[in-house]
Amino acid sequence: MSKKIYINPGHGADGDYGACYYGRREADDALKLCLLVRDKLKAAGVETRMSRETTDGKGPGVSAIAKDANGWGADLVFVLHRNASTDATAHGVEIYIYDTSNAERKANAQAILDGVVKATGMTSRGVKQQRTWVMIKDVKAPAYYLEDGFISNENDNAKFDATLDVSAEAIAKALCEIVGVAYQEGEQPAAPAGTYTVVKGDSPWSIAERLMGSGAKYKELMSYNGLAEDATIYAGQVLKIPGASASDAPAAPSVPAVPSYPEPTRNIVNYTTGDDVKWVQEKLQGLGYSLGSYGIDGKYGNTCEASVKQLQRDYGLSVDGIVGVNTRKALKGHIAKAVNPYRKPTQNIYLGDWGDGIRWVQYELKRRRYDIGATGIDGQYGASTKAAVERFQRAFGLAVDGIVGPNTREALAA
Ligand SMILES: [Zn+2]
Repeated sequence: MSKKIYINPGHGADGDYGACYYGRREADDALKLCLLVRDKLKAAGVETRMSRETTDGKGPGVSAIAKDANGWGADLVFVLHRNASTDATAHGVEIYIYDTSNAERKANAQAILDGVVKATGMTSRGVKQQRTWVMIKDVKAPAYYLEDGFISNENDNAKFDATLDVSAEAIAKALCEIVGVAYQEGEQPAAPAGTYTVVKGDSPWSIAERLMGSGAKYKELMSYNGLAEDATIYAGQVLKIPGASASDAPAAPSVPAVPSYPEPTRNIVNYTTGDDVKWVQEKLQGLGYSLGSYGIDGKYGNTCEASVKQLQRDYGLSVDGIVGVNTRKALKGHIAKAVNPYRKPTQNIYLGDWGDGIRWVQYELKRRRYDIGATGIDGQYGASTKAAVERFQRAFGLAVDGIVGPNTREALAA
C-alpha cells in the first residue's frame, strides 16, 4: 500500500499571508517549497495531498486542514512555515513536534532538520516541542512542523531562495525515509502538455511573449494560474498556458532563453550609456514603466531614472534612481512587489491607538525607510511611530500634527 504524506504550506487562509517582510510573504515562500517537495514525493511514489495549491488568501484555516489530513488518512503531516522576528539578526531553522521525549519522532525530526541545514547552509536551532498548535496537536498522524529560516533576515532569505530545489530534495528524501519509501533520485516527470516549466531567467512577461504572442498577456497568464499579477515565479514552477491544448502545447525550451541585452555588472546611474542600459530599459518596459519617447535607446536619462525610482518605491527598495543589485533583482522579477498586507485605516489615528490600521501605517513608513523604532510593525501607535509620521508629514508638505488623518493616509497610500 502506498504511503500518504499530507503537505501543509503555512498560512494562506482568509487574507492571512503569514509574516511579511518588505513585500515578501511567508505564505508564498511556504507554497513555493512545498510544491517542489510534493513533486519529488510523487516521483518517489508517495501519495500526496496539499492543503492549498495557490496563495489567493482564500485557503482553508488550520482546523479545517487538520480535519482534512485526518479524514484523508495521512501517514505523516509535513507543515512548512518561515519564522519572523523584530530582531533582524534572528536566523536559522527549527522544527517542532508534539513530544520530544519520543525518541523515534525526535530522530525523524532531526533528520529533516539536518537535511535542510545541510542543503541551505542555515543555522540549526534544534528540534522543539510544541503542544498547542493545531497542526501539531489536532492531527492524528505524526506532524513535523518546520520553520525554514527567518523571513525577517536577509541572509536566511538569500539562502532559502538559492537552494529551493536542493532543500526540497533534502526534505523529500527525509520524509521518504521516515515513511519507509525508497527515494528516487534524478529526473522529474515531464511537465504535462499545455504547461510550461519555468527556467532561470524567465519572467511572466517573457513567457507570455514567447508562448502567448505578446508580453502584455502576462496578466492573463498569471490569473489563469491563480496567481497575483505581481506574484514572483521561480525556476521549476509549472505554469498552465492559456489557449494551449494538450496537442499543440509549445515544448519547453531545453536551454534558458537568451536575453537580447547583457545584464549590467555595474551600477547604472543617470547619463550612463551602453547595451546594459538597454537591458534595464527592456525590463522596465516589460514591467509597464514608461521610457518616454526615446524607447530602448541605451541612454539612461531623466525619464528612465524617474521610472526606476517609481519601481524602487513599488518594490520597497531605497529610492536612489541607481540600478544596483537589488533593483536588478526587481527588474528580473526575482523579488515580489511590496504589497501592504494590512488594511488601510478609515479613521484618524492618534497617539496611544492600536490595531491593524496602525500596522498599515507602520508598513508604509518602513517601506519608505522611516525609522519606526525597535519594536517594528507592532500595531501600536507609540512615540516613535508618531515621530516618524511627523517626519513624513514635514517631507510631504502636510500639516505636522502627528495625527494620521485623511491627507496623511492618502499620501502614505500613494
Ligand atoms: Zn507561519
